[in-house]
Amino acid sequence: MRHRILRPPYCYRWAVLISALVLSVSIIVSICQPGAEGSPIQPTPPAAATASATAAPAPDLLRHTAGQGKVVALTFDDGPDPVFTPQILDVLARNGAVATFCMVGTQVRRHPELVRSVLAHGMRLCDHTVNHDEDLAKRTEQRVTAEIEGCWSDLQVAADADVPVGYFRAPGGEWSQPMRDVAAREGMKPLAWSVDPRDWATPGTARIVSAVQQGVQPGGVILLHDGGGNRAQTVEALGQLLPWFVAQGYRFGFPG
Ligand SMILES: [Zn+2]
Repeated sequence: MRHRILRPPYCYRWAVLISALVLSVSIIVSICQPGAEGSPIQPTPPAAATASATAAPAPDLLRHTAGQGKVVALTFDDGPDPVFTPQILDVLARNGAVATFCMVGTQVRRHPELVRSVLAHGMRLCDHTVNHDEDLAKRTEQRVTAEIEGCWSDLQVAADADVPVGYFRAPGGEWSQPMRDVAAREGMKPLAWSVDPRDWATPGTARIVSAVQQGVQPGGVILLHDGGGNRAQTVEALGQLLPWFVAQGYRFGFPG
């Protein structure tokens, strides 16, 4: 009968006691570790980008650099463009800067040599869909898949090699869950930004420069354009911004 010391009522009481203990320990641990749920410190994103980030079981939209400290990631959308992409590559090279190019499939097919040039300059590629349909967020998953995988294939064909395409950026920054799912399936990170100087609207070189200087924080991702229109202002702004970044102690990196 010695083995019956722990009769059912005692077992029950022990079970209750142990679960209460486990519960209180886990509460104490969670109180003592604020921020342990994995939200990394990020620069404050612009309101528009925050609004589009609300969907989310998929990974968070990327709007910070891989490197810590005073790093900035430049991103160029809607190219490659035969006039402006080479000019931008020149300015970047002169200032020892790197950038990520979010390319559109239709442009990639027209100018495959520019994809190779961008890669040869040590830059990274980002998939920006085949047709840059700004209403892609409203389309079916099948359509989304064709647009994203199509651009990815265009980049591989243009590079004439297996090139890594580490990022996907939604046309117009308009995201949908299928876009995030397809990008994740293809191993591409969903790339947003933290600073939008609206260079696409050609507001004047001085305004592009000041918007970046005022908006940037360490770890920032800057949205610029090498395609989709006349980007002379963007090229000129870069000529001022890149030396300014260097003087401020910034390094150039990639989103991550
Ligand atoms: Zn775009």
